[in-house]
Amino acid sequence: MRVGVLALQGAFIEHINMLKSLGVEAVEVRLPEQLAGLDGLIIPGGESTTIGKLAVMYGFMEPLRRFAAEKALWGTCAGMIFMAKAIGDGRSQHGQPLLAIMDIVVDRNAFGRQVDSFEADLRVSVFENGQSKPFPAVFIRAPKLVAAKGDARVIAELEDGTAVAAQQGKWLATSFHPELTGDDRFHQYFLQLAGKDG
Ligand code: GLN
Repeated sequence: MRVGVLALQGAFIEHINMLKSLGVEAVEVRLPEQLAGLDGLIIPGGESTTIGKLAVMYGFMEPLRRFAAEKALWGTCAGMIFMAKAIGDGRSQHGQPLLAIMDIVVDRNAFGRQVDSFEADLRVSVFENGQSKPFPAVFIRAPKLVAAKGDARVIAELEDGTAVAAQQGKWLATSFHPELTGDDRFHQYFLQLAGKDG
């Protein structure tokens, strides 16, 4: 299994390390040609406007959409914003290119300044032990999931009901950074979506 991590900007090294620890060949993707032969791709956290602009500059937009039509794709934090069909906070999207593939609406920097970063235990509906063993999620200037429509469904919420992870077929989106914790269940789940053991 070969999984790529989009390495234009942001926290890509941590994803690479976690994939390697799971015995997967992990590739830093800097050019569209490097998507060839991958079973899945992770778009990391960072700054979604920057990632979007660099993706346009390097000719990634259409290649990424074609890749996603067949393969597993997972966006964490800024990556989730980049995958979303819409930003629903009413602010201008001018200058912020979106892949606009996943049927989710997100709100950037939705937790405000006071709680720039925080950790919260999540119950994740798609994990076998998701109810008994909470997932320790790290949020850094995180977006919220305002809506999951069509085939997209919410798979994790904060205690107050705020949606923070969604799945749509082989696509995954998380508001938080599973690569910054010692818990590799999200990475394992993504590898299942990408076709490991199946
Ligand atoms: N605040 C960033 C954005 O809006 C996302 C932060 C992150 O990826 N940790 O793009």
